[in-house]
Amino acid sequence: MARLIVISDVHANLQALEAVQEAARDEDPGGFVVCGDLVGYGADPGPVLDRLFELPLRSMVAGNHDLAAVDRFPLEWFNEIAADALRWTVDQLPAHQLDALRGLEPSERGAEGLVVHGSVVEPASEYLMPDERRAATRSFDADGFERCFFGHTHLPTVFIRSPDGRVRGRAMGEGERLELEPGCRYLLNPGSVGQPRDGDPRAAYMVLDTDAASAEWRRAAYPVEEAQSRIRAAGLPRVLADRLALGR
Ligand code: ZN
Repeated sequence: MARLIVISDVHANLQALEAVQEAARDEDPGGFVVCGDLVGYGADPGPVLDRLFELPLRSMVAGNHDLAAVDRFPLEWFNEIAADALRWTVDQLPAHQLDALRGLEPSERGAEGLVVHGSVVEPASEYLMPDERRAATRSFDADGFERCFFGHTHLPTVFIRSPDGRVRGRAMGEGERLELEPGCRYLLNPGSVGQPRDGDPRAAYMVLDTDAASAEWRRAAYPVEEAQSRIRAAGLPRVLADRLALGR
């Protein structure tokens, strides 16, 4: 399978997803791994779901937004803006797309590794921020995975557990490449396609090379203004458009 594209938190941003697909074409990917939050916040949930389900998928899990859209996660958990966007999202989706969301779980074991949205301990909701070494350690302890892919924080991140049990974690910048060493275990977050929060507005994704045993964090520029005007035209909270330009 060689090269896989790992993505997360697309959040109904069609323009960002298209840019990542375009950029990923050069990698000749053998498949995609999707770490959840396909919808919520953005203005194109239907077209984004169509595109995602057409991908050569290795694994795809549901995020808390996807689960909330099909009443499998409490709407009260979200702030008012996210909840508004979710109610709007549900109204946009035809029954067959809601059924497709209903078929996804927040955790899935694929050939390439374990895939969760938030964490191994709480796949739908726990945040593994880059400095949350203790939470990451609990995830390493909860399962014997060698590699686990996650999202939810919208921050490109890696946690490494060395053979001596030590856990390190850090944020990853564009173009950074990590050799996956035998004996080490990894929690890998590609960052967010549709709503990055690390100050870089470009769509984030990760290239996993299973032959070379490496992971590389990448960014793809996309027409942010187009995604913003779609959000405003839909009548969604304006802050959801504004933040895309800031990458926050
Ligand atoms: Zn998210």
